[in-house]
Amino acid sequence: MGRICSKCKKEKSLEEFFKASMVFKNPRINKDRKSTICKKCTLERTNLNRLNNLERYRKYGINWTKKNPERRKAIRQKYFRSPKGIYRNLIKRGKDHVLILQSDFINWYNVQPKYCFYCGIPENMVYKFAKGNMRNRLTIDRINPKGSYSINNIVLACGVCNFVKSDIFTKEEMLEVGKIIKIKWETLHD
Ligand SMILES: [Zn+2]
Ligand SMILES: [Zn+2]
Repeated sequence: MGRICSKCKKEKSLEEFFKASMVFKNPRINKDRKSTICKKCTLERTNLNRLNNLERYRKYGINWTKKNPERRKAIRQKYFRSPKGIYRNLIKRGKDHVLILQSDFINWYNVQPKYCFYCGIPENMVYKFAKGNMRNRLTIDRINPKGSYSINNIVLACGVCNFVKSDIFTKEEMLEVGKIIKIKWETLHD
C-alpha cells in the first residue's frame, strides 16, 4: 500500500517517505506517521533551501560550533566510534579496497565481540596502550593485508596489534605475538 506524494503527486511505497515530524505524529491525523511529501521531494526542498540560504547556514554552523565546542567534540568522537564512522574512515583511506557495503559492514560490526582478535584486549581497555584516535576503539584489521576489506578478511584488532602485525606477520603468527601483547596489557596499570 502506497501513498501519493503531495508535491510530485506520484504514488510511492511508504518506505519512500520519511517519518513524520512531531506535528504529524498524531495518529488520528497521520495513521502511518509518515511525511506527506516523499523522500526525494523532501531532500530536494532541503537542498534548495540550503542553497538559497548558504550564508545563513554557514554562520549558524560556525556559531553553534563556537558555542558548543565540547558538544561538537563529543559528537565527532561518538561518530568516529560508530560503525558508520569506522566505515567512512575505511572508504576515506581507499575506496577501491573496500568490498563491503555500508549496511553489511554495520551488521558485521554490531555482532562482533568487542575484543582484539589477536591479544584479546576488551575495547573499553584499549586506551591503556593505544595512542591518538585509536585509544578509543578497536580497529579493522585485514587478515591478509594485501587483500581487500571484505567480510572474510577483516577482524577487530587493537591499534597496537594492528600496527605490530602490519604486513609482516600472518594471522597464525600474530595470534602467537598476541599472547605476549596480552601479558603486557594485563600487567599495565592506568
Ligand atoms: Zn514527491
Ligand atoms: Zn591487540
